[in-house]
Amino acid sequence: MKLSQAFLDNRELEFISKVLFEQKHLGMGTEVKKFEEELKAYIGSPYHPVVTNTGTSALQLAVQGMGIGKDCEVLVPSLTYVASFQAISATGAIPVACEVHSENALLNLKDAEKRVTKKTKAIMYVHYASHFDNLQDVYTFARKHHLRVIEDAAHSFGCISNGKKIGALDETDTVCFSFDGIKNITCGEGGAIFSTDKNLLQRVSDLRLLGVEKDTEKRFKGERSWEFDVVEQGWRYHMSNIMAAIGRCQLQKFEAEMLPKRLSLSQLYCEKLANAKSVNLLKHDYKNNEVRIIPHIFPVLVCNGKRNELREYLKQFQIECGVHYYPNHLLSFYKTNYSLPETEKFFEEVLTLPLHPNLSEEDINLVSQKIVEFK
Ligand SMILES: *Cc1c(COP(=O)(O)O)cnc(C)c1O
Repeated sequence: MKLSQAFLDNRELEFISKVLFEQKHLGMGTEVKKFEEELKAYIGSPYHPVVTNTGTSALQLAVQGMGIGKDCEVLVPSLTYVASFQAISATGAIPVACEVHSENALLNLKDAEKRVTKKTKAIMYVHYASHFDNLQDVYTFARKHHLRVIEDAAHSFGCISNGKKIGALDETDTVCFSFDGIKNITCGEGGAIFSTDKNLLQRVSDLRLLGVEKDTEKRFKGERSWEFDVVEQGWRYHMSNIMAAIGRCQLQKFEAEMLPKRLSLSQLYCEKLANAKSVNLLKHDYKNNEVRIIPHIFPVLVCNGKRNELREYLKQFQIECGVHYYPNHLLSFYKTNYSLPETEKFFEEVLTLPLHPNLSEEDINLVSQKIVEFK
């Protein structure tokens, strides 16, 4: 049983075929424009998003687009994919590793507050396992310390808070999604930047095309720039028509087919594992907020130091599990001179169970049963 997997069929092939054999333009053009328009409508943002070749490049451009780079610091939870850290350091800024809450791996603002300096310019908030309980507190914190907010929403595409989608909440600054091979929707690889800052959106749309001014607008009309200006370091981070075709197809299938599957399978895990002695579910509290969480991954916390034992045990039954994530402050490149005990505790206990739309209820029952039986 695979830990994660994309949900694909002949429909993606039809979308790709149109680009290959009808449009015959594989690079960035009208298909990318359509994908951006459809994403905008789906998320419900008043602003046109900018898509990129990966989620990591979306994060990097968002940081650069805020004018953050050398001599700047960005607060970020240590417990995230290394992509969040790499995106920050790629701009020349320093990622400052912060503690998470050991019961759900969301950013610990008390710890973050201790790490604010004169150089701190932004906070990168990670929607771990598609959750965002303390997002409003993050925006309050950011206002207090005059920081920008970049939401690493790689896990939470399609999630809703009080009737609005992540990427279009009232308080939203800048939000990045990932469309890599196993995320809630995929383009093969891909990413998107949503923002309420129009200047940032214009800047990142140039930055993704080597900084060539207004090149996006030309390419969307099937033209190219021959005489132009460049004012800063840009990157080759745009999305191709082929990737966009896959994304458009996935977006069509998402609400009716993929999302209900993720919801019902994760709900089943919650029911079956509620009383399991060997594991605890993550704890979340949305107070009075009504939310729709569409889990991208399903991590649990294993009791009594038996995480690796349980992982090996499940492997015997061909059940593949994961560990999300290795703390970044323990990596050679990002090593800190302070420890983060809650983060390290979470890392030692966490085990991610298989979850993707190709799994059946029987699969979830089997995994849950093996966990309940595990001593
Ligand atoms: C997937 C992911 C990213 C990066 O996205 P890519 O599209 O793989 O580059 C960033 N942050 C988190 C938390 C992720 O899970």
